Amino acid sequence: MRRRVRSEGGGHDEPSMTAPLLLVYINAALLLQLAIGVGIWLWRRRSVGTVTPVAAPPGVVPVSSAAWPGWRGFRVVRREFEDRAQTQCSFHLEPVDGAPLPPFKAGQFLTFSLRVADADAAAAGAQRTITRCYSLSDRPQPGSYRVTIKRVTPPSGRADLPPGASSGHFHDRVREGDVLQVKAPSGHFFIDPDLAVPAVLIAGGIGITPMMSMLRWCLAEQPGRIVHLYYGLRNGDEHAFKQVLEELAAAHPAFHLNVVYSRPGANDVLGRDYHAGGHVDVELLRRTLPHGRHQFYVCGPVAMMESLVPALAAWGVPRPDIHFEAFGPASVRIEPAGPGEDAAALAAPVEVHFHRSGRTLAWDGQDASLLDFAERHGVEVDSGCRSGSCGTCETRLVSGSVRYAHAPDHDVTSGHCLLCVGTPASALVLEA
Ligand SMILES: Cc1cc2nc3c(=O)[nH]c(=O)nc-3n(C[C@H](O)[C@H](O)[C@H](O)COP(=O)(O)OP(=O)(O)OC[C@H]3O[C@@H](n4cnc5c(N)ncnc54)[C@H](O)[C@@H]3O)c2cc1C
Repeated sequence: MRRRVRSEGGGHDEPSMTAPLLLVYINAALLLQLAIGVGIWLWRRRSVGTVTPVAAPPGVVPVSSAAWPGWRGFRVVRREFEDRAQTQCSFHLEPVDGAPLPPFKAGQFLTFSLRVADADAAAAGAQRTITRCYSLSDRPQPGSYRVTIKRVTPPSGRADLPPGASSGHFHDRVREGDVLQVKAPSGHFFIDPDLAVPAVLIAGGIGITPMMSMLRWCLAEQPGRIVHLYYGLRNGDEHAFKQVLEELAAAHPAFHLNVVYSRPGANDVLGRDYHAGGHVDVELLRRTLPHGRHQFYVCGPVAMMESLVPALAAWGVPRPDIHFEAFGPASVRIEPAGPGEDAAALAAPVEVHFHRSGRTLAWDGQDASLLDFAERHGVEVDSGCRSGSCGTCETRLVSGSVRYAHAPDHDVTSGHCLLCVGTPASALVLEA
């Protein structure tokens, strides 16, 4: 039987509903809801409770069985600018072999081997191979990775120098369809999965990339976890991921976004485009963070790292709660080195012998690293990231011992050392 029901909005034919039929519908709806709830619960348990600190999204095999040794071909499937000035470009990468990707820990990076034009011999069309690291800028996905690369210009007042070799190559030459050689995700800068401790992500400029990965991972896998993002940059032109960050902040009450412009432009509006003027510093954190324990993650330009990281420690943040990564050479010191150690190094120059090049030189403490020391004296050694991440400058340590200001990201092979972040702790014989 059908009965005509007329509402104010117009007429609709609807089936008549008996009481037993209504009961059947209600029970079916309740059962469906229960099944969906159990499904979600099981999925979350599987994701959060994996053995690695970062959960594997469905479809991604565990890292131990899938991380690849050496280089693997990845095709660029999409590229897109993330800021108004078009200085920061994302590259989406898929493995050429089509095999599954290992999950990574949110905050880790990829290492690229690139054939780039040799600036010194550009006219002759010569090329050279360089190695560079780029943080993954999205959470783990089953089939693709994303990195976001900022174009690097010569230092101010040095227009005579060539621009950044790798970043320029990515921006000017790498196109959709190109294949790049990539090492598996690595690095020790990643988010602690303890959801009971709020995370404070502090990014300066392009340091936003590992934070995007951490943030997106938290929001997807730990939606209740409190996350504060402090993002410091000059102005709206270089404000990367602006729309997506604002949308995430609006959709997730546990996510607190703080954008800080140091030199706002004429069209930048406080309260609309950014939340505070100046720099991200401890004073701002003190004013805006609630009391209690937080895990701090810092990535940004050298000046920010060298001031903010020690300032956090001086503020009383316990050392294990401060995590940081520099994208280049930065000498971040949290605890002062033992006075005896430094005094000994300065008082007694040590001999460093470079075996392959047959040079013996006196280390006088002038250089920040053995790599700078070698280059200053014309000893040719390979190098890549200059921050202990990519392993290109790894050299066999024939004798002696090397000191690191803090543990390098790269897992150094036993009996070897990294020149770019190492200094002599005794007289050295190096294979290089
Ligand atoms: C773990 C890690 C993660 C990273 N993640 C990212 C990321 O997500 N996004 C990103 O954009 N970057 C990232 N970086 C930085 C990146 O690896 C590169 O260092 C950056 O792109 C610059 O490399 P380049 O080859 O373009 O510049 P380089 O060629 O290395 O040049 C660097 C600077 O030196 C100048 N220069 C050139 N020649 C000379 C000379 N003769 N004397 C003095 N100066 C000279 C150049 O003009 C330029 O300013 C990361 C780095 C690390 C270690």
